[in-house]
Amino acid sequence: MTDLMEARSNTPTDADLTRWDRDHHLHPWASTDSWRKDDYMRINTADGIYLWDSTGKKFIDGPGGMWCVQIGYGRKDMADAIAKQVVEMPYASPWSSTSEPAAVLARRIAEMTPGDLNTVFFTTGGSTAVDTALRTVQFYNNRLGRPDKKLIIAREKGYHGSTYLASSVTGKERFNTKFDKSDLVRFLPDVNPYGRPEGVSLEDWCDQKVADLETLIAEEGAENIGCFIAEPILCSGGVIVPPPGYHQRTLEVCRANDILYISDEVVTGFGRLGHWFASQEVFGIEPDMITCAKGLTSGYLPLGACIVSDALMTAMEEPEGAEVFYNGFTYSGHPVSCAAALKNIEIMEDEDILGHVQRVAPHFQDRLRAIGERFDIVGDVRGMGLLGCIECRLDLPRKSLEADLKFGARLDAVCEEMGLMLRPFGNMAVFSPPLIISKEETDRMFDIMEAGLEKLSAEYD
Ligand code: PLP
Repeated sequence: MTDLMEARSNTPTDADLTRWDRDHHLHPWASTDSWRKDDYMRINTADGIYLWDSTGKKFIDGPGGMWCVQIGYGRKDMADAIAKQVVEMPYASPWSSTSEPAAVLARRIAEMTPGDLNTVFFTTGGSTAVDTALRTVQFYNNRLGRPDKKLIIAREKGYHGSTYLASSVTGKERFNTKFDKSDLVRFLPDVNPYGRPEGVSLEDWCDQKVADLETLIAEEGAENIGCFIAEPILCSGGVIVPPPGYHQRTLEVCRANDILYISDEVVTGFGRLGHWFASQEVFGIEPDMITCAKGLTSGYLPLGACIVSDALMTAMEEPEGAEVFYNGFTYSGHPVSCAAALKNIEIMEDEDILGHVQRVAPHFQDRLRAIGERFDIVGDVRGMGLLGCIECRLDLPRKSLEADLKFGARLDAVCEEMGLMLRPFGNMAVFSPPLIISKEETDRMFDIMEAGLEKLSAEYD
């Protein structure tokens, strides 16, 4: 009997599930030295900000799924809205028809986004939203008869997904692997204020980072550059908050050089920083396109979107000799995903989740800063809204660098023992809990982190 037949005929045991997952399920970002060897933790149930694994152990979900479970787990109203749409009409071809949820959601998102960003292209997630934005830039410049205006400016430590183009604009060194990338991308150096040369003020640092962009444009020629793509905060890169004024000034440089600006709000969108979108409300910019996903449905179902400005839409219009905007997915505007997004937005509004984030975030950030002050092994803490990162110092002579570089995983491991999950990245641990986290739960989360850091600090002594 094959494994599949066995799975159908028997209720699998814990050991079966572990074995089947290990032998047949290739996970994202799996390391080639451990695939088909690693056993992943299996999550069985979830409620609020909590997860339970297959042994019954309970965890606070520090990463909020994967930066996405804004309203928390176990919402029956979400389940009901999803089930209702499945029963009424589970699928409509976005090529030849539309659905009520898709039309209502498109209008709703257009209301939330800044300026003239009024047209929504639905995708299956964040990578496909980024791909859509980048392909739209190509279409636009070709349409305007500027086929050379193709280069994409991206940033070191940026993460934009793993389709071909989205992975090509991802600037995390760790991902320079055996996959090929597009040669249309140019990277700007790290914007992280932490680690800037001594004596350089934040203002000077911002000047330098803007100058990096200007220099690159001068080197490549504005006539060859189509767009600049940036996350408002580089999240997977380690919650890097750029120096004040950075986004406004880089947008000005882009405008002056006729370069489109794409703001990748896959993480920062839908409440993470206390606003529907951060581009305008937090960073004061109106980009040409915004990409979003994740918190749009709170992770209950897959959905992403690329929101395009009226100016771009008008420029791409062709009353005569029309060409096909050949970008589309079978599941673009999926009615059930859109219904989930609408219910998610309704819940966020009814429960004032944005206000809640604005109220809890100062306490969250205070507790984070206190960690930075208290622990010698911590080099930097940073964050904004309900996003945080703890970075281990790499300059203490008494420790081994190898251990430091695994600091994130080690901190996660000790915290997991005490019931908190974090997301490790090399010498960093990041967290972005569900947005419904209370002040008391925030304290519990940071208490565990501090206890974990005490343990790790003792190891280093
Ligand atoms: N853009 C950003 C900023 C992200 O953080 C991510 C995922 O973490 C993506 C794009 C890709 O999204 P997805 O994994 O839904 O394709």
